[in-house]
Amino acid sequence: MTQTLTFTCELPNGVHARPASHVEQLCNTFAADIKWENTRTGNIANAKSVLSLIGTDTLQGDECIITISGEDEMQAIEKITHFIKTEFPHCDEALETTEETGDFAPLPRNLSNLSPAVVRGHSVSSGQGRGKLIQAGGINFDNFITLPSSKGLDEEQSALSTGLEQLRNALVLQQKADNSTAVAVIDAHLSILRDEEFSAKLLSGISEGSCAAEAIIATAKHYGKQLQQSSSAYLRERELDIRDICFQLLQMIYGTDQFRCDNALTEPSICLADDLTPSQFLELDKSLLKGLLLTHGGSTSHTVILARSFNIPTLIGIEESALSPFVNQEVLIDCKQGVVITAITPELERYYQEELRVNNVLEARHAKYRNLPGCTADTIKLEVAANIAHAIEAEPAFNNGAESIGLFRTEMLYMDRTTAPDEDELYNIFCQALEAASDKSIIIRTMDIGGDKPVDYLNIPAENNPFLGYRAIRIYEEYIELFKTQLRGILRASAHGSLKIMIPMISSVEEILWVKDVLAEVRQELRKEKVPFDEKIPLGIMLEVPSVAFIIDQCSEEIDFFSIGSNDLTQYLMAVDRDNAKVTKTYNSLNPAFLRTLDHVVREVHRHGKWIGLCGELGAKGSVLPLLVGLGLDEISMSAPSIPATKERLSKLDSRKCRQLLNKAMACRTAMEVEHLLAQFRMAQSDAPLITTECIVLDADLGSKEEVIKTLSDNLYLAGRCRYPDKLADDLWAREDVFSTGLGFGFAIPHTKSEHIEQSTISVAKLAQPILWGDDEAQFVIMLTLNKHAAGDQHMKIFSKLARKIMHVDFRDSLQKATSAEEIEQLLQGAIAE
Ligand code: PEP
Ligand code: MG
Repeated sequence: MTQTLTFTCELPNGVHARPASHVEQLCNTFAADIKWENTRTGNIANAKSVLSLIGTDTLQGDECIITISGEDEMQAIEKITHFIKTEFPHCDEALETTEETGDFAPLPRNLSNLSPAVVRGHSVSSGQGRGKLIQAGGINFDNFITLPSSKGLDEEQSALSTGLEQLRNALVLQQKADNSTAVAVIDAHLSILRDEEFSAKLLSGISEGSCAAEAIIATAKHYGKQLQQSSSAYLRERELDIRDICFQLLQMIYGTDQFRCDNALTEPSICLADDLTPSQFLELDKSLLKGLLLTHGGSTSHTVILARSFNIPTLIGIEESALSPFVNQEVLIDCKQGVVITAITPELERYYQEELRVNNVLEARHAKYRNLPGCTADTIKLEVAANIAHAIEAEPAFNNGAESIGLFRTEMLYMDRTTAPDEDELYNIFCQALEAASDKSIIIRTMDIGGDKPVDYLNIPAENNPFLGYRAIRIYEEYIELFKTQLRGILRASAHGSLKIMIPMISSVEEILWVKDVLAEVRQELRKEKVPFDEKIPLGIMLEVPSVAFIIDQCSEEIDFFSIGSNDLTQYLMAVDRDNAKVTKTYNSLNPAFLRTLDHVVREVHRHGKWIGLCGELGAKGSVLPLLVGLGLDEISMSAPSIPATKERLSKLDSRKCRQLLNKAMACRTAMEVEHLLAQFRMAQSDAPLITTECIVLDADLGSKEEVIKTLSDNLYLAGRCRYPDKLADDLWAREDVFSTGLGFGFAIPHTKSEHIEQSTISVAKLAQPILWGDDEAQFVIMLTLNKHAAGDQHMKIFSKLARKIMHVDFRDSLQKATSAEEIEQLLQGAIAE
């Protein structure tokens, strides 16, 4: 028997990629063979393939027939009929795009004062690079005007099959590449080659009399057009993958001479491209590729992902016409500010040399901490771990000094795609992460879908209160197969390394018991199938729903560990939406109530002999680190780039002082009081005197006010006294704008009281040559930067003391004659002590 359903497509834009993905997702839940016929075009599609469905050219008003045959056809017809009537008409709503658009933040004053000629873009990686701007070609199939003529059906068919086979083999070989991201992209390309509909489309072209080349180009254009029209940025970006595969196929069959797209680099270059395909990117010589500028390409485009993994500075959303006049000229790409500098003046050259100096100093300093365990000055260990969202992030995280992965947010593996990953895909991903881990452990958090992390194909209806609704563990019962598949993937991978399972949003013991039952079932299945896994794999929960704080004793009987999700715990404890800009004032993890909760839970967990970490954003906040140390956590987990700096900060803290600080913080009445306490602690800690030789430079080759302010601010950053040197410099400039701080006699005292300086400091630059400072000249700059928590009148008191002393010729002479930073330090100490 066969079931059929006839209906009219009412979608205004027809069946493009997004609606097709909904249909495909549903149909794939049935074993039956399901066909979709568009009676107008006569095209019949396999309803389990997006490419195939798009190929039916179903437009608004077209009559369609779905035919279902197979053992579960009755269930299928019922569900599909319901879907077509109720959900299908609404599955064409616009998706949020991932493409960056809109405003750019203003440039820092130290840079904008140099009036750089810039083109702005959005940073999707870090670093800076310099080279000749070249236009890297996309593939334009219309450029191939003379195509080989058909040699007859059989010969063309066989050329195509051989080409497909050879390309498949070539890609499989490339999968052995070193770069794991490249492997993932090649995997995606292989899946296009495996798509039956893709091959069928190619073959049908040949059957209609086209040569293989014509059929390939027609296929590329056909799917390309459909995908480009998709309202999903993710699917639009897949268009480049189809074009890439088709072009490689042409080259495979006809040779690269006939289908040429030459992007060879011969010197250090910055590539500007409209649509560089992933394989074109892979072919570029990375030792010469100094930067990438893409006009298109969202953050999920494979080319962008690859560029990031090769550490190529990359900007997207670049306006091509703004840059085309500079092709073949030297340009500079700066991902920190999101700019391309099109005319590198000597001043800009020196600006970027200074940037490099700072990076090199930091790099060398962090290198020392990378391989050291997280440890306080009094040798109390605190494991510093990384948060990741995909296996490809594991390797860089461990290279950055992660002692483990404290949070693998797996929901990202389910997002931005049309179907859920299957068991093998998940298994491979977890194995890939384990390979990078060596013997270090990885906490895999099972999918935290829902809330702010929607997954289209699960069709979870929109809710008024998504964070309080159908999210994380709460959806597992309905999507039990999805959950079990994930558990199977994790368990299978656990045979190859140290994995732990963590469940998000647990609020009761019932939920833990339910999870344990499912886990036991899955384990039993695997045992029966004789599939190896770690029988002792630890099971933990996120501590992010406040109710858990009161049942730690009971939870501890059932699970092995806890990890505090401070993002959600703050949200739920304070009843404040973490994503609502209107209530950010209330969303404050320094609220004493929150700190008391943390203290309570850490004590309780330890009292019951269990392990507890923290994996919310709070873990990476340097200013809060003393409180986290005071809590006595076993681990903190954060985004990988923050790890070396955290380890460095940790090494300077004394755990006993941190505990005392926490006690004081918990006794505070307001978050503001806690902030003051932390600021005072920072100022008092690590005997940070007002004057330090680290912030004194002698005979400095600095040629302008901008260079002096930048270098001194950068030094404060390197000395750990300021976190955002550009912002501190902006505050200094705000004062300079009102009146110049030149005092005459070749002296200047730029000064500010700013929230961007952590430890009040007097910095000094004694210059090799005098420079212009307002209407005066200056050769001796004393820069005063005071913390906003410093006593109210301290700023002006120090300023006027210094200014008064400088009026004395003897003091000026002594400063000018000083030959060492120590001497200057002594003189200034004396001056402000008077
Ligand atoms: C948290 O809530 O702190 C957490 C780490 O989880 P997520 O941010 O993914 O909700
Ligand atoms: Mg959370």
